[in-house]
Amino acid sequence: MPTIDLPVLDPQQASQAEAPFHSTGTGRRVYVETYGCQMNVSDSEIVLGVLHQSGYERADSVEEADVVLLNTCAIRDNAEKKIHERLRHLNFFKKKREDMVIGVLGCMAERLRKDLLDKDVVDIVVGPDEYRRVPELVAGAQGGDKGIAVKLSRVETYDDIEPLRTEGISAWVSIMRGCDKFCTYCVVPFTRGRERSRSLPLITDELKRLWDTGFKEVTLLGQNVDSYRDEDNNADFADLLIASARAVPNMRIRYTTSHPQDMSDRVIEAMGEYDNICKYIHLPFQSGSDRILELMNRTYTVERYLDRIRKIREVMPDCALSTDVITGFCTETEEDHQATLDLMRTVRYDGAYMFAYSPRDNTKAYKWGDDVPDEVKKRRLDEVIALQNEIAAEINQGEIGRTHEVLVEGPSKRNASEWKGRSDTNKTVIFPHDDVRGYVVGDLVKVRIDRSTSATLFGELV
Ligand code: SF4
Repeated sequence: MPTIDLPVLDPQQASQAEAPFHSTGTGRRVYVETYGCQMNVSDSEIVLGVLHQSGYERADSVEEADVVLLNTCAIRDNAEKKIHERLRHLNFFKKKREDMVIGVLGCMAERLRKDLLDKDVVDIVVGPDEYRRVPELVAGAQGGDKGIAVKLSRVETYDDIEPLRTEGISAWVSIMRGCDKFCTYCVVPFTRGRERSRSLPLITDELKRLWDTGFKEVTLLGQNVDSYRDEDNNADFADLLIASARAVPNMRIRYTTSHPQDMSDRVIEAMGEYDNICKYIHLPFQSGSDRILELMNRTYTVERYLDRIRKIREVMPDCALSTDVITGFCTETEEDHQATLDLMRTVRYDGAYMFAYSPRDNTKAYKWGDDVPDEVKKRRLDEVIALQNEIAAEINQGEIGRTHEVLVEGPSKRNASEWKGRSDTNKTVIFPHDDVRGYVVGDLVKVRIDRSTSATLFGELV
C-alpha cells in the first residue's frame, strides 16, 4: 500500500482543496463512468476524491473530459461485453483527441489486466486496491506511457480519502472491502481481494459530516457487511450499526449486503431497536436446494437461512426482504429448481435480483462445466421471475390503506407533477405535490397508499 498519509477533509474542505499533494491534474477534467454494483459507485467517488486532491476537476461528459475512466464490473459475461463495446465507442473520441487518457478501473481491470492494455484505446488499467496511484498513472499516460497497477492489498481501505460525492440526499459509505467467502461461482474474491474493514470512529465521523452537509440517508456498503470487524475498537457489524444509529439519529441508515451464515442475532436486534435503521434487508439465498448451496460453497443450509428469516420476522414483523437468485447453476435438476421456487413461496420476498448462471473463468465452478442448457436456464429464470412478480404484487396490494414515512427523492419520471420517494422498507412511492405545504427533496412525509403494482406504491399525502 502506498505510504502517502492523507489528512481527513470534511466535504467542504475537500471541495475547496487546492491540489495538496501532486498538482499533476491542475486544470484537467476527469469523467468517471460507473458500471456494476454500489461498491463501484462508492469506489468511483473515492477515485474522484483521489484525483481531486491532485488538482483534477470532475467533468459531466466524455466530450468535456481530458481523462475518461470506466469503473467496471466482471460479475457476468454481459457486463464485460458492455465495456468492450464502450471502449470501441471511446476510440472515436480518442482518434479526434489523441491526448485524451482512457482508463479501465475495477473488477474487469483486475481480472483481465494486461490483456486490456493491449487494446490501443486503453492507456491505464487500475485494480480496486490501487486507486491512490491513478494520478501518477494518468500523468504517465499523458507523457505517452501506458500504465498498469493491479496489486491486491490486505490492508487498503481508503479510510483517509474523502470521496468526492455528487450532491444529493443519499450517500454510499463503504465500510469494508473484499470477500473471504469464495462462493464457487464468484470472481469477487479474486478481483477485490481479502476482507478488511475501516475503522468504526472514522465511519461515524464520516456519517456526521454527511448529515451536516445535507445528506438524509446513508447505505453502509460491503460485500459481506456481517463480517465487518474493527479489531482496534473491538467492534463488529452490530456495534457499527448501533454507533451509526446514535451518531446520526435523524439520518436513515441502510446497509447491504448481508450473508445468511454470518448475520448475527445482535445485528437483527440492533435493527429492531433503532428507528433510524431502515427495516429492509437484502439477504441473498441463491438456491433453495441444500445440494446446490453446498456446491456453491454458500456455507449455509436452507434450514439456517429460514432460521435467519424467522429471527428477522420475530424482531421486525414488517421488515421488507429482498434477495438474489441464480437459476441453472451446474448440475441443477428440476427438483433443485422446484426447491428454489418453494423457498420463494415460503419467504415471500418484496423484491429479488434474478439471474441465469453465467460461468466465469478462474472460478472453481467454471471447471465443472455449464451443463444446464440455455433454454432450460431461461425457462427456470422466467418461472422464478413470474413467481416473484406475483408475490411482490400480492405483498404490495396488502400495503393499500397503510401509511408510510417517505423520503422525498425528486420528481416522478412519468409525471413531473408527482413526487417519487422511498419508504423505510425501500419501496418506491409516488404521490402528488403539495403546493400548500411546499415539500422539498430530502423531506420526510407521510403517504397513505391507495394503489400498487408489483414494483411501486402510489398514495396521497396525509
Ligand atoms: S459472498 Fe460469495 S457471492 Fe458474495 S461477493 Fe463473496 S464470494 Fe461473491
